[in-house]
Amino acid sequence: MKVRVLGCSGAIAKNCRTTSFLVDDDLLVDAGTGVGDLTLAEMAAIDDVVLTHSHLDHVAALPLMLDAVASRRAKPLRVHALRATIEALRAHVFNNVIWPDFASIPSREAPFVSFHDIVVGEQLSLGSRMKKHVEVLPAVHSVPACGFAIRHTDARASWVFSGDTERNSAFWQRINQIEVAMLVIETAFSNREQALAQRSLHLSPGTLAGELAQMDPASSYPIYITHTKPAETAEIMSQIGQFGADGTRWDIRWLEAATVLEL
Ligand SMILES: [Zn+2]
Ligand SMILES: [Zn+2]
Repeated sequence: MKVRVLGCSGAIAKNCRTTSFLVDDDLLVDAGTGVGDLTLAEMAAIDDVVLTHSHLDHVAALPLMLDAVASRRAKPLRVHALRATIEALRAHVFNNVIWPDFASIPSREAPFVSFHDIVVGEQLSLGSRMKKHVEVLPAVHSVPACGFAIRHTDARASWVFSGDTERNSAFWQRINQIEVAMLVIETAFSNREQALAQRSLHLSPGTLAGELAQMDPASSYPIYITHTKPAETAEIMSQIGQFGADGTRWDIRWLEAATVLEL
């Protein structure tokens, strides 16, 4: 399985795009501004989108992408998300004010997009060309949110994405029970902004260390840091670099846009 990093920044700036990952060529995980780097043909090949939550940095490109490729697609783009996320998209984005309601265009019977509820703990089979097993993982954020564990149906180890989250012991309980190939986990703020991180329910290096301490000590999969605010990336990296003795047992790496992770 291939995971192409389209965006992994906590905000936009030159060369910084917000959260989005393309799994193989047919499944999109979040639809942040990184989607804008795909060609029309690449966007049109996506059949399923899974969303972690409704925040703009994770959904901004979804309405624009639909508009770009709808006429090239014979079937609706399937969007899978928590019910609260879908309700937010319907009420605040696809409301015929911010953007057309593509769930009823060109007709309700054959729309450009269809929305599908998921719940934490659910296991889905997605992907039209290469079947993928997707498990919905818990997240702790300021709006209903989730993460995902994704693998080819015939593979054992999963690519795991935390989504936007603060401290989340249920997440660790679950991923310690499955085989993890690699983990992508957010660290949005530096320790200097710890109060803001706590209020907005994001991690900072201090809370990240407490999270990683819950990782099964027998595991040694790589841990990729994502969602750093561009203005604080260097500071976050330096604080994680100072984890000391604990840090040396974790294989921590930096996620960069345009990287292709191979599982
Ligand atoms: Zn968020
Ligand atoms: Zn975010």
